[in-house]
Amino acid sequence: MTTGLATEHLPFGEKRDPQFFGKDILSVKQFDREHLETIFSVAHEMQGMVQRVGTFDLLKGKVLTNLFYEPSTRTSSSFVAAIERLGGSVIQINNVTFSSVSKGETLGDTVKTLECYSDAIVLRHPEKGSAAEAAAAADKPIINAGDGPGEHPTQALLDAYTIVEEMGRLDGLTVTMVGDLKYGRTVHSLARLLTMYGVTINYVSPQILRMPSEIVEEIGAGGIEQTETTDLESVLAQTDVLYVTRIQKERFEEPTDYDRVKDSYVITPEIMKGAKEDMIVMHPLPRVGEIAPEFDDDPRAAYFRQMEYGMYVRMALLALVLGRA
Ligand code: ASP
Repeated sequence: MTTGLATEHLPFGEKRDPQFFGKDILSVKQFDREHLETIFSVAHEMQGMVQRVGTFDLLKGKVLTNLFYEPSTRTSSSFVAAIERLGGSVIQINNVTFSSVSKGETLGDTVKTLECYSDAIVLRHPEKGSAAEAAAAADKPIINAGDGPGEHPTQALLDAYTIVEEMGRLDGLTVTMVGDLKYGRTVHSLARLLTMYGVTINYVSPQILRMPSEIVEEIGAGGIEQTETTDLESVLAQTDVLYVTRIQKERFEEPTDYDRVKDSYVITPEIMKGAKEDMIVMHPLPRVGEIAPEFDDDPRAAYFRQMEYGMYVRMALLALVLGRA
């Protein structure tokens, strides 16, 4: 049915890549290597443009909604920075307790409302599967910015882009993930995404925070070599990318379990003497003690650069999804 609200014409400047235009971004599973190469090359162009001109009008007239049911600093503000650097604007909903949700509105009704006002919705929600639920209700693109312990696809894309920019490649690297591999959604997405490359993955965690077996199986089926251990030092010397994560306190049912594992791994300059010179340390942040600040000046500490790469990747995704890349 024609609603009377539809527009048929293709405005000047629209370039629609059918792989991305109008699509939801829910999981890294929806991408193949070709998609990633497109995203990385557009992100690289964005990086150059921001360094040359700062802000430009590629998404002028486009409105993004940032709908956050869970706290966020980097993801939320980097999407704001991304749309604004592209000349678009943002409806920011950070504290849903002040919105209709507190009156009992369903997620489906909330996104149906917000898509009337905007061209895409970035959603962070505490429940696994919520982004897919929102996407089923909405016609406009939904971008999953973290669904509980599920996935965080835009983080994984920026993590992979960081590795490519810093190490020059993904193929053949040894990536060691350390910390909370059970609840850490960023490592769930990143491990899945890395199956597209010939990497080796080491998982280092306390016993109770091991990488979920279904993810290990999924990645093993992709032919990727994986090792699980509780001992970081046993794998550190071979590591090209050390991906450190926070123990996700908010997902523990028993506070005493959290207390038992909270300081399991702390990266210090001393420990890093056992690592290669030519490697990087990443972290999706926030950190709560897993990396000693004394390590920050080490050239291998890539976690602050990682955030900047994140803005370029989110600019690329918005441009692709909104049909102007
Ligand atoms: N910022 C990341 C996330 O939203 C990592 C974290 O919270 O520990 O998943």
